[in-house]
Amino acid sequence: MSVTLIDGKAFAAKVRGQVAEHVSALKESHGVTPGLAVVLVGEDPASQVYVRSKGKQTVEVGMNSFEHKLDVDTSEADLLALIDRLNNDPDVHGILVQLPLPEHLNEDLVINSIAPEKDVDGFHISNVGLLGTGQTSMVPCTPLGCLMMLREHHGSLSGLNAVVVGRSNIVGKPMAQLLLGDSCTVTIAHSRTKDLPEVLRRADIVVAAVGRPEFVQGDWIKPGATVIDVGINRIERDGKNKLVGDVDFASAQTVAGAITPVPGGVGPMTIACLLANTLTACCRSRGLPEPQ
Ligand code: NDP
Repeated sequence: MSVTLIDGKAFAAKVRGQVAEHVSALKESHGVTPGLAVVLVGEDPASQVYVRSKGKQTVEVGMNSFEHKLDVDTSEADLLALIDRLNNDPDVHGILVQLPLPEHLNEDLVINSIAPEKDVDGFHISNVGLLGTGQTSMVPCTPLGCLMMLREHHGSLSGLNAVVVGRSNIVGKPMAQLLLGDSCTVTIAHSRTKDLPEVLRRADIVVAAVGRPEFVQGDWIKPGATVIDVGINRIERDGKNKLVGDVDFASAQTVAGAITPVPGGVGPMTIACLLANTLTACCRSRGLPEPQ
């Protein structure tokens, strides 16, 4: 049985193309341009790369990009004042505060100060609650991208056994909610899970969001299962810097039916979903039909 490589890069390009078409139609028919504000506090190198990439792709699909770069020692009051201004700015439809924040800033407080309808990351407590109760919400971008790839590959996910490894608020938990929403039988595994390999061997779908390089082994995977690798880990191998996922790709691809590569899988889909969420937020703010 040969493995299917799920091409997140190509899929993300398709999603961005659809977003660009909608943006252009919105401008033409309603004279509105969706706008995304990204707030970066400090100079974390990985965060700087993400913010640059988000800004570039926002402009490429025809949206307005507003970047706010703040000093690492910005006070909580100043950050909250900026978010308040963005909440009240009619040209800003989506607000993203790049995480992690410097230690002196309370992440929960900051995220929950974003207007829920502009919370394109889907981390505001209102959006978490709406997602958990199956209501219309802003859905976190990384799990949304994973779900889109799974739907594209499988069609219906109904009745499939899904195991999500990781229970973080930004990936694991919302991923599990989304899979449940698509009628999977969902198990959430974490660092205290007993006999993880055995739990994984029952999974038709594995979503790995662990933060440990090449952690999930091929012989933990049920033959033919679909493996979505969320991990982004920088390692050094043979004297070179390399990006690897949370799944041992070499062994997993010999067993899985389908697998996402790292890089080129979940990563590109995350930013594409951020753009899609910004478009959705813009349409909702105007009472216009949402793009499907
Ligand atoms: P966190 O560190 O917040 O969560 C990791 C989870 O993995 C925790 O729930 C932890 O369990 C669990 N875990 C750790 N060790 C084990 C173990 N030995 N066995 C089973 N479970 C374990 O990470 P995130 O969710 O933020 O990110 C996960 C990965 O996804 C990272 O590699 C990150 O870089 C990547 N990522 C990629 C994105 C993308 O766009 N592609 C976006 C966001 C993240 P416990 O709760 O018990 O500690």
